[in-house]
Amino acid sequence: MKKYMRIEMVTGQQFEAEWARTFNPADKEIVIRLANRPGKKLVPLSRVCCILMPEPPLIDLESSEKDSYLIVETVTGKSYSVRSIQGHQGRDGFFAAPTDKDSPYKMIYFTRDGVISRRNDVPVGQILEHQGVLSQEALKKALAEQQRLKKQNLGEIISREQHLEQDTIDEIVAQGQKNVKSGKWLRVGDILVEAGLITREQVKMALASQEEGKKKKIGQLLIELGLVTEGQVLAALAAKFHLPFIDLSQIEPDQRALAAFSPDLIMQLRVFPVADRGEYLEVATSRPTDLNISNTLRFHTNRRIELVTATSEQIENCIAKYYEAYDDQLQQMVDNLSEDDDNQENGEENTPADSDSETIRLANKILIDAYLQGASDIHLEPGPPKYPLGIRYRIDGICKTIQMLPSHFAKPLLSRIKILASMDIAEHRKAQSGKIMLRFQGKKVEYRLEVTPTVGGNEDAVLRVLAASKPMVLEEMGLSPDNLLGLKELVVKPYGIILCVGPTGSGKTTTLHAALGYINKPERKIWTVEDPVEITQAGLRQVEVKAKQGFTFHEALRSLLRADPDVVMIGEMRDREAAHTAVEASLTGHLVFSTLHTNSAAETVTRLIEMGEDPFNLADALLGVLAQRLARSLCPLCKEAYQPTTEEYELLRKFYGPEAFAAHGYGDQHESLHLMRRHGCPECGGSGYKGRIAVHELLICTDLVRQTIKSGSSVQMIQQAAVGEGMRTLRMDGIAKVLAGMTDFEQVKRVCL
Ligand SMILES: [Zn+2]
Repeated sequence: MKKYMRIEMVTGQQFEAEWARTFNPADKEIVIRLANRPGKKLVPLSRVCCILMPEPPLIDLESSEKDSYLIVETVTGKSYSVRSIQGHQGRDGFFAAPTDKDSPYKMIYFTRDGVISRRNDVPVGQILEHQGVLSQEALKKALAEQQRLKKQNLGEIISREQHLEQDTIDEIVAQGQKNVKSGKWLRVGDILVEAGLITREQVKMALASQEEGKKKKIGQLLIELGLVTEGQVLAALAAKFHLPFIDLSQIEPDQRALAAFSPDLIMQLRVFPVADRGEYLEVATSRPTDLNISNTLRFHTNRRIELVTATSEQIENCIAKYYEAYDDQLQQMVDNLSEDDDNQENGEENTPADSDSETIRLANKILIDAYLQGASDIHLEPGPPKYPLGIRYRIDGICKTIQMLPSHFAKPLLSRIKILASMDIAEHRKAQSGKIMLRFQGKKVEYRLEVTPTVGGNEDAVLRVLAASKPMVLEEMGLSPDNLLGLKELVVKPYGIILCVGPTGSGKTTTLHAALGYINKPERKIWTVEDPVEITQAGLRQVEVKAKQGFTFHEALRSLLRADPDVVMIGEMRDREAAHTAVEASLTGHLVFSTLHTNSAAETVTRLIEMGEDPFNLADALLGVLAQRLARSLCPLCKEAYQPTTEEYELLRKFYGPEAFAAHGYGDQHESLHLMRRHGCPECGGSGYKGRIAVHELLICTDLVRQTIKSGSSVQMIQQAAVGEGMRTLRMDGIAKVLAGMTDFEQVKRVCL
């Protein structure tokens, strides 16, 4: 008789069949011929739970010592006792052999979607013992305790918990039984209550504790007895269930994963979403034995769930941090907060707030908390209906999820923020911009708000935090000694133009203010025109653009150029007209500072020429261009030294430019070279990075560079000329800072293309 294989579908449906095409798990589908029926049938593997084969497929399935015995539970509610075949544990499923020698099937292929759990057929206690965590005696003791709890009777528990002598109880019970004439068996608890020894409530508690005692898992007992830690038991459970054991304190959860579950569900199951891996969602639990968790999560998200284990303490910490509403820690800070009077002066009067004081407090907390954490931006991102409102801060240039708030906060919070910024709260379909001023601990904090309509009738809000800050000193800007010297020589010139370039958020304004600080002396009249003024400096005359009131950038600039300046700082050359005015001003005897959004120093020159500047005028006016990037710096508390591999060393050399690498004295250092790498500690939130470091490229207009500009050269030619004159490119400066152990290659690559 022909032996067919049995195919079980995830729906529980089964049929007998034979292969019509060689089975390959990577195909995502199988082609079979049903028993006693003509024709081939194509079945997607995603709908298959498992395939039981009378003969192994044409792959080498030798058994080895590493094979483990498993209990596999399928979505169809069956469990199989099998021996896993090492080396055949694919991404989509795995092969295993039934342990039952009499089984008509020699091999089973389990698909990934078909399996709920697979666990080692070994008790946790034994795993712990095997791992050397637990001594044999300790294990025996725990097993005995488990046994004892199972056998313990109610009287014993009551005796222990109520501090009654066991003898007294026995006596009373015996008495009670005698008194029952009907011969009906009275329960121990009832007797004790009647005797007035304990209350009904206490009986209930004792009964509950008896139930618990019976059900107590060996792991829980071990922890209670102080023999092992929760982490050790979980690691053993993780091994048993083939689940990874992770350290949540080292993980930055991903936004999509957080948004995939409603806070209620998370709160109820006490799990924490770790990542959205596309094909599945990764969720951490401290109860890997509870199959209900995976099923419930799957049901609510309609996504495949992969569990990982983590300690309950870490999970609770994460839930508190990302899901539970802000605690009252910030309340005190909010108490000494007032909305700034400036708004009134500006006529941007704040309407008395919306009556919901919880929303008002929440909005204030978010604004203040972001400022205290040093965030540059706050992102409020409502999800689809019933999904949480995500709050992210940008800190050190990187977005970080701070909170997931229940969805019902979204609309009131957005309205509140709009009210603070004097926006039209009835308008939901148009983008709006505005600003919020707060005074906190005597300091003014300004928030530039942009509200953007998003899908599903939602609105996203992004607030840029502009805290009035003090200028930094030029020496503290992280410039290399050569660049610092070069820049100092440029900024003391009587006239000409100096530009600081780079993308938004690369610290251009901070650098320019540091440069202005260096030359800020009574004998110089320094004007600035900025939008907005972020840094204030005594001695400077600072003008802020107020476009709403009709005081535009051009108007401000024209006015201050008539106001007898020595030095003019133009916040940004945002168009042709501003660029032209700046060049003209520098040619008429002023020292001009400004910024531009260009990628490199050399590119800045060609960009200005493209914008219509005359190459000759520009070359004469330009003193230098400083291109800048901010990279995350390694956390000084936890970074660790290591010796780079040859490949890594070669990568650095190539990125730097091999010739220059040798010429600048970095060649032949591989043997003795030590770099720093990130590790992660509580201080840096486990990321291994803390704060930022600037990477620069200073192009100085030497005669040769000036000549190259005048001859209408390309970006490459200008760059080459500048490097020939001693310029270190952004890449070079970045690698130099990697070699100095300040940051790592990953960061430099990220910011210097
Ligand atoms: Zn650290």
